[in-house]
Amino acid sequence: MEADTQAHVAFFLTGRRPSEHLDAVDGLGLRPALFASYRDLTQLRYDFPLVLVDGRADGLFAQSLSGIIDSALASVAQGSDGERIRKHVLRLEQAIRELATGGASGSLFALWDKASSQFTKGVDQSFEDSLRRTRAAIKVNGAVVDCDTALPARLLQHAWAAVQQQKAEGFRKELDRLVLKLSDILKADYERSAAGRSAQHLQAAVGTGFGDAFDFDAMSRMLSKALPTDVFPESRRKRIGGLLDALSAQQFISSPAASATKTDAAKPYPFLFDSCADALAAFRERSPKQIALAKAIAIAGLEIDGQYSESRHDALFEQFGANGLDPQDLAQFPDYLVCVNAEKMQAVEHAHLMEILASGLPIKVLLQIDDILEESPNGESKLTSGMRSRQIANMAIGLNEVYVLQSSSSNLFRFRERLLRGLTYRGSALFSVFSGASAKSSGLPPYLMSAAAMESRAFPAFTYDPSAGPNWASRFYLGANSQVDLDWPIQAFTYEDEQHQRVSQDMAFTLVDFVASDHRYARHLARVPREKWNGSMIPVDESLTRERKGLPDKVPSLLMVDADNVLQKVIVDERLIREARRCREMWHSLQELGGIHNSHAEKLLAREKKTWEERLQHETEAREATVPGAGVSAAPSASPAPAATSAPVEQEPERSPDEAYIETPRCSTCNECTTLNNKLFSYDANKQAYIADIQAGSYAQLVEAAESCQVSIIHPGKPRNLQEPGLDELLKRAAAFQ
Ligand code: SF4
Repeated sequence: MEADTQAHVAFFLTGRRPSEHLDAVDGLGLRPALFASYRDLTQLRYDFPLVLVDGRADGLFAQSLSGIIDSALASVAQGSDGERIRKHVLRLEQAIRELATGGASGSLFALWDKASSQFTKGVDQSFEDSLRRTRAAIKVNGAVVDCDTALPARLLQHAWAAVQQQKAEGFRKELDRLVLKLSDILKADYERSAAGRSAQHLQAAVGTGFGDAFDFDAMSRMLSKALPTDVFPESRRKRIGGLLDALSAQQFISSPAASATKTDAAKPYPFLFDSCADALAAFRERSPKQIALAKAIAIAGLEIDGQYSESRHDALFEQFGANGLDPQDLAQFPDYLVCVNAEKMQAVEHAHLMEILASGLPIKVLLQIDDILEESPNGESKLTSGMRSRQIANMAIGLNEVYVLQSSSSNLFRFRERLLRGLTYRGSALFSVFSGASAKSSGLPPYLMSAAAMESRAFPAFTYDPSAGPNWASRFYLGANSQVDLDWPIQAFTYEDEQHQRVSQDMAFTLVDFVASDHRYARHLARVPREKWNGSMIPVDESLTRERKGLPDKVPSLLMVDADNVLQKVIVDERLIREARRCREMWHSLQELGGIHNSHAEKLLAREKKTWEERLQHETEAREATVPGAGVSAAPSASPAPAATSAPVEQEPERSPDEAYIETPRCSTCNECTTLNNKLFSYDANKQAYIADIQAGSYAQLVEAAESCQVSIIHPGKPRNLQEPGLDELLKRAAAFQ
C-alpha cells in the first residue's frame, strides 16, 4: 500500500510511471466515465443532424431533425393510430440519423426516401402508411448535415446566404425603383422637347395600327403651342444619363433585368472567401466602384425628389466618399464572409484577420479551430488549451466594436439566433468555432469532443454584441454554458458495482476529463489496477481546490470506462492539473465579464453588509441603553455625522529600488502572474495581485511575470539569489521594468 501510494505520488510529480504499480493508458480505449451513455449517438434523440432549411432567413434557417419530426408527429400521431405512427416514424428518424452519421448527404426528403427504402422488405402496410402520412405533414426541406468537421462552414454559409439574399432583394428593389424613376424623368423631358413633339415621333408612339387616322403634323403644331417648352439643361440630362449607367452596370448584386437585356452584362462579384487577405484585397479593389454606386444612389434620390441643386450639391458630391463610406451607406451592400481554419493560418493571414476586425468593415469571419489542445512552445511539454483562439477572441472583444461569438460546433444550433445577429451586425464579426475534429484521433464523434470542450470550460461559449447596449451586462452573454456559476459543471453518474448494486454519485466534468478523452495526451494519465485503488486517490475537482505544500499525500484521479463500459480509475500528472487550474482562472475571468461572482459587485456587497451590520449594532446598543432600569446611563446623544470627506489617497510606501513589488491598485486581474506562480503572486481581497511570498519563486519568474503583465506594474527589483543561472540576461530584461 505504501509503495503504491509512493508510486502514485511519483507519477503525479514527474509523469514517470513505474510499470509494476501503474498501467499505461495508451491502447486501452478509455474514455471519461461521463461519456459512457454516449457510446452510440445514433441511438439518441438530440440536436443533430440539422436540416438547413431552404428559403428561411429567420431563426428557422436551421432546424433539428428531431424537432421537425416532433412537429409533424404532433399533427399526425393522433387517436388510436398515434402510438403506432410515432413508433414507426422514430425508427425512420434513427435510420436517417445513421445515414447522416455515416456521411450520407442530401435533402431531408432524399434521405427520408433512402432510409424508408431500407424498411420495405418485411414491413406491413401500416408502416408505409405511418411514413406517408408523416412525410406529407413535413413542410420544410433542405440539406441534412451532421455535427462533423464541415458543419461550422456549412451552417454559417447557409445562414449568411439566406441573410444576403434577403438583403439583396431589398437593395435590388431600390435600384430598380431608382432606374425606373430616372428613366421616367428622362422620358418626360424628351416628350417636352421639339424632337419629342415632332410628327415623326408622335406617329411612332401611336404605332402603325392607327397611323392613317391622325394628322400627326397638325398634332405636332398644336402640342408645340399648347404645352410649355421648357426642357432640362443639358447638364441635368447628362447627369441623369450617368446615374442610369452607374445603377445599371453595378456588380454588387445580381440584376435579372440587366442580365436579360445585356448579354455582356458583367458578372456580380463574389463575396465568399477562404482567405482574409483575398477578402481585404477584393474590398479595396471594389471600393471606388462601391463609392461611385453609393454616390449615384444618393444623387438619384435627390433628382427624383427634384431636390438636386447644382450650385449646392456639385461641390458636395465631388468629395463624396473621400474618407470611405459611412456605416449607413455600407449597410446597403452585401457583407463579405471569410471562412478560415486556424491551423492553416500563417502570421500574415493572422495580421489580415486583425486588420479586418480593427477596420470595422462589414466582413464576417468564421475562424474554425479543429484542435484546441497544444503543447506550448514556451515551456517544456507544457499543455495549453484554446490559447490561440482565446487570444484572437480576446483581442476582438478588446476592439469594442466587433461582434464576437465563440462556440463549440455542438452548441451552434442553440446559438442560431446569435449567429444571425452577428451576420446582420453592421460592422465586422468574428465567429470562433471549435469543430471537435481532433476527436478523430481518439475514435470519438466530433459532436462529443466539441460538447466536452464546452462542458469542461476548455472552450466556453459566449457572445459579445456591441449593438446590444452600452455596458457589459447587456453586451456579454455567457449563459449558454451549463451551471455557469460553478467552476465545473456537476453531473450525476450512475453505475453498477461489483455486488451488482446501483450506485449514483455526482461528478464534476473538468478540463482533465476533456484532455483524457484525447488519446494523444495519454502519457499524462496512468491506470491504477483495481486491487491497488486506495484512499490517497481523490477526484480531480477536489484536488484542484487543494494547495500543495511539500510532498502531496493525495493524488488526483479520474473515473473512466473501457470499451466494455467497465469502470477504471486513472491518476493524473501535475502538468495536467496545472493546466486545469489555468483553465479555471480563465473561466473565472469570463464569469466576471458575465457578471457572475463579480469581484467589484461582491466587494460592494460586503461593504454594504458591513455598514448595515454596524448600523444595526449601533441601534441595538442605543435601544438597550434607553431601557428604564437597565442600570446604565442614557445613551449619549448621537454625535454629529462627520462631514463628507474625500477618501484618503493611498500613498505608495517608500521602497528600495532593489525590492520587488507590484503596483497593486493598478492590477487588472488578468491572471498572468498568478497562473505563472500562485505562491509567489497572489490576489488580495480586491482580487488585485501582490507579491505574497518572494521566497516561493525565482528571479526568472519575476522577470517573466513583469514581461507578461498587461499593464506593466510588476517590478522585479534585484535578484535575491546571486547563484541563480542566467542572471546577466535576466537583469538586462528586468531593466525595462524597474
Ligand atoms: S500580470 Fe499584472 S495585471 Fe495581471 S494579475 Fe498580475 S499584476 Fe495584475
